[in-house]
Amino acid sequence: MSHEYTIPKTQTAAIIQKVGGSLEIVKDHPVKQPEDLAPGECLVKLECSGCCHTDLHAALNDWPLTPKTPLIGGHEGVGIIVAIGEHTSGSPVKVGDRVGIKWLANSCLNCEPCRQGREQNCEEAQLSGFTVDGTFQEYAVSYVRHVTPIPKNISSQEAASALCAGMTVYRAIKYSETTQGNWLVVPGAGGGLGHLAVQYARARGLRVIAVDTGAEKKKLCMDTLKANAWIDFKETKDLVGDIKKLTDGMGAHATLVTAGTGAAYAQAIDYLRTGGKLMAVGLPGKATLDASIFFTVFKSISIIGSYVGNRQDAIEALELCANDIVKVYFVSKPLKELPSVYEGLKKGEVTGRVVLDMESK
Ligand code: NAD
Ligand code: ZN
Repeated sequence: MSHEYTIPKTQTAAIIQKVGGSLEIVKDHPVKQPEDLAPGECLVKLECSGCCHTDLHAALNDWPLTPKTPLIGGHEGVGIIVAIGEHTSGSPVKVGDRVGIKWLANSCLNCEPCRQGREQNCEEAQLSGFTVDGTFQEYAVSYVRHVTPIPKNISSQEAASALCAGMTVYRAIKYSETTQGNWLVVPGAGGGLGHLAVQYARARGLRVIAVDTGAEKKKLCMDTLKANAWIDFKETKDLVGDIKKLTDGMGAHATLVTAGTGAAYAQAIDYLRTGGKLMAVGLPGKATLDASIFFTVFKSISIIGSYVGNRQDAIEALELCANDIVKVYFVSKPLKELPSVYEGLKKGEVTGRVVLDMESK
C-alpha cells in the first residue's frame, strides 16, 4: 500500500527521555515501517505540528497522570498518510489523504462514553504525545478511525491548531448554554486556546471580555479579534468589579477558563451572574477549585469540565477555520526550536500559537 512513498528508516524527532528531563532533538530516531504497522494504524508524514501548553505540562510532569517515556510530545499534527497497516478493514481514510492527528489518537468507539460521543473519556483512549508518541517528529503512527480529514481550502499550518486548541474551545462554547448577546469571559484570551475562544465566541454572537496580560495580547484580542473588552489580569485591582461594570452590574453569563493556572479560576464564581456557567478547560496540575459552595448553590452556578472533543467536534471546529470564520494566529518555527518554544510558554510569552514546521531543518 505504501508503494507511492519512499519511507526512510530514520527521522528527526524531539524526545524527552524521562519526565521532567530536557528535550533532545534526535536525528536518527527510527521510523516505524509499513510492514510493522498493526491493523488500524497508519503512518503519517507530518508537515507541521502546533505546540500546545499541554505538551509542556506533559514534559514537566505537572499532572497527576504521568506520560510514557521516552516521550515524543505533540498533538496538533497535519500531514499525509503514507502507509496503512495490512489487514485494516473499513478505514475511512486512505494512503495519500491529508489528515490531522489530535490529542485523542484512538478510542474503542464501543463503550458507553464512546457511544455517548465522549470518546475522550474512553477507558482505552490513546493520547498523542502522552500514552503514545505524538507529532513532534517527521513520521507519526496514528489510527485510521480517529485521524481528522483536513478540508482542501485550508493550509496545513492553519489547520494544525484547530485540532486541539480550536476544537477544545469550540466544544466548551457549544456546551456553555450561552446565546447571542451573552457575555463570555475568557481568561487566557491571548494564548493558544484563548485567542481561538474569542473568535468562536464572536462567531456565535457572544460578547467577549478578554482577560490576559501585555500589550501584544491586548492588541491581538481587541484590534484583530474584536473582543468587546479587555482586562489585564496583572494590572486590575478588582477583576470582579471590572467585569460587573461591563455587564450592567449583573456579571457574565459564562466564563471559559483557558489559562493553565489556578489563579485564573479564582474569582469566577464571584463575577458570574446567577445561572452562570464556569467552563473549566485550562489544566493546572495541582490546583484545586476554591469555589464558595454557598454562592455556587445560591447563584445556581454550573461548573462544567470540558475535555478536548470527539471526531465530530474536530470536523466542525476545522470547518469554521477552513471557511475563514476563525483564524489561527501563529508563528512558524522549525522543530529544532521546540526547547525555546517551551521556554516562551513557561514565561507566558507566546501570543496565539507556535506551529513547528517538520520540513524546515
Ligand atoms: P498558552 O500558554 O498558549 O495560553 C495561556 C494563556 O493564559 C497565556 O496567554 C497567559 O498569559 C494566560 N494567563 C496566565 N495566567 C492567567 C490569569 N491568571 N488570568 C488570565 N490569563 C492568564 O496555553 P494553551 O496552549 O492555550 O493552553 C492553556 C491551558 O489549556 C493549558 O493548561 C492546557 O493544558 C489546557 N488545555 C486543556 C484542554 C482540555 O481539553 N481541557 C485542551 C488543550 C489544552
Ligand atoms: Zn492541546
